[in-house]
Parts: sequence; structure tokens; C-alpha cells
Amino acid sequence: MSEFLTRLLRPNIARLRPYSSARSEFKGQASVFLDANENPFDNGLNRYPDPLQWSLKQQIAIWKDVLPEQIFLGNGSDEAIDLLVRMFCNPGLDRIITLPPTYGMYEVSADIAGVEVLHIPLSRDFQPDVDAILHAADEHTKLLFLCSPNNPTGNVFDRDKTMALIRHFPGIVVVDEAYSDFSRQESLLSSINLYENLVVLQTFSKAWGLAGIRLGMAFAQAPVIEWFNKVKPPYNINILTQQAAMDALQQPEIREEQLRTLLRERDHLIHALSRMPITEQIFPTAANFVLVRVGDPDGLYRYLVNKGIIVRNRSTVILCEGCLRITIGTPNENSQLIQSLQQYAAL
Ligand SMILES: *Cc1c(COP(=O)(O)O)cnc(C)c1O
Repeated sequence: MSEFLTRLLRPNIARLRPYSSARSEFKGQASVFLDANENPFDNGLNRYPDPLQWSLKQQIAIWKDVLPEQIFLGNGSDEAIDLLVRMFCNPGLDRIITLPPTYGMYEVSADIAGVEVLHIPLSRDFQPDVDAILHAADEHTKLLFLCSPNNPTGNVFDRDKTMALIRHFPGIVVVDEAYSDFSRQESLLSSINLYENLVVLQTFSKAWGLAGIRLGMAFAQAPVIEWFNKVKPPYNINILTQQAAMDALQQPEIREEQLRTLLRERDHLIHALSRMPITEQIFPTAANFVLVRVGDPDGLYRYLVNKGIIVRNRSTVILCEGCLRITIGTPNENSQLIQSLQQYAAL
């Protein structure tokens, strides 16, 4: 094992003898499968799925220009986040670093695992404080979560800051790119070949329109992915999910068309918001949502709920005081929202 992984993995994980499933012990061609206690009558779903999802990974590898061995697939990116914490962080001893305001699951996964969270807030313009992060880093800060474009702020992190953190942070740097499809900034995916401590997360839940199938991707060098595969539940991605993802990958034009619409709608909503007296600040966004500061976020939130329109009230979150996070909907939904906002502003 690499010096790097030996240093970072939890000792019980480094010693782990993983579960060996029927489908992983026999590889090859056969016509009679009496090894997994399945029901033999074919209904398309009576067999266990491929534990390592090779067909799907081969398609993703071509699309993303990585090797299949550099891909882990999880039950949402949330599973990858959870496995990272459990692989690397000794409860009560190690820590993760998050940069609030950011996605909540990093902290929840750490809390569940009994792992301490070190919060190093973003600057006023929502950028990482590189010096403070590196100052706080030691041999027990195993994971640093960077979310870019960041949820709930919508902005991308400066590439120089991100690269400085990847180069100098002593643990694993997880860059969560759930929203990168909506951004002009290039993905960090190609950098996994250069940095053994880099894990990039992406998901089918946002631009691909498949939040319901629960499929997230983690990309890293092959040795790191091998450990994901050892600690994951054996059949973590079901057959229906694998099929739905492969079907979607065959029709990229559907997603591209939707993406164009959403980006146009994002501009349109920002323009409409910028002309409303209730708007105090609109934050730059590279995602499929907009963070907007208003005078009375709770009042506006309730007004919209009464109109049957639900946005995310982020006004109690650090650095997001007064803010609502609005997801870009269909053109029709966005019109309804804008109309309601104009009615509210005219009250
Ligand atoms: C929505 C989102 C995800 C996606 O999680 P899934 O489990 O793949 O649905 C991951 N990270 C961030 C920051 C998100 O906002």
C-alpha cells in the first residue's frame, strides 16, 4: 500500500477483510447460476446487480475521460461522503474540515460517525481562507471538503486557492462538483492523475435530472477507489439505477437542451430580481440556484408558501443572513415565482 494511504486510512480499515459476494467470487461466462440463493425465474430483476457496475463505469469512463478503475459509484454522492468519513477518520481522534456556509451532509456524516468537525468559515465573498485552513491542518485533519460551485452560495472557488489546498493539505481534499455542469469553470477531474489526495464528487441528481435514482460518482486514483470498493455495501447500486443511468448517457442531447434552458432561465430570474425593490443583494451563481438577500426573508418565505411556491430559507445560516436560496425551475414555474415576487413587492 502507498505510504500516503498507510498514513491516512484507519487501521481497522487497512486491516479489513472485505465481504466477498457470490457475484464477485465467480467471474466469467456461465449459464447456470446456483451460487447466490436467488430466485431463478427470470423477471429481469431476479439476479443481484454487478457489485462493481462495470458496464456503467465503462460508459462513464469514456464520457469523463478517466479509467473505470478511477470511478466509485455510490447511492448518491451522499454515500461517497459517508464512506470517506468512515474510511479515514478514527472516531474521537480525527477531524474533518468544512467551510461554512456549505452543504450539510459533510457534517452530518461526521456527526454520525462520531468524528469532530472543524469549521473554517468562508470569507465575506465566499472564498476559502487558505491560510487558516492550512494553519489548522495536522495529521488528524484527514478530510477537507471543498464544495465548488458551493451550496448554498452558488459561487465557484478561485482555482488558485483550490490548487494551493490540494497541494499543501496533508489529508484528502474532497472537491464536491455536484453543480459543475452549470458552471463555466473547468472540472478538476483531470487533476486526479496528478494528486493522490484528490477526490472529486459529481452526481446524477442535478443537471442529469435523476435525483430519484440515487447515483453519485467519486473520482480518484485507483488505489483510493479500491478502498471505497472494500468498505461499500456489496450491492450498493441496484439494477434499475444502473439501467436508468446507462439510458440517460445514451441521450446526452436531452440534458444539454435542459441545461441551456436552465441557464437562460437563471439569467432571466436574476434580471427580474435585480429590478425588484425587495432585493438587497444577488450573489453571483455558477449553479442551478440563486442566493438572494431580502429585507424580510421569513415574511417572503411565508408569502411564497401561501402561493404554493417553496424556496429554501437560508437566513439563519452563517454569512447568509437575510437570504433565500431559489432553485431554477421550468420557465412556467419561474414565471409564477416572479409574478408572486412582484405582487409581494407591491404590497
Ligand atoms: C445536491 C448535492 C449533492 C448531491 O447528492 P446526491 O446524494 O448525489 O443526490 C452533493 N453535494 C452537494 C453540495 C449538493 O448540493
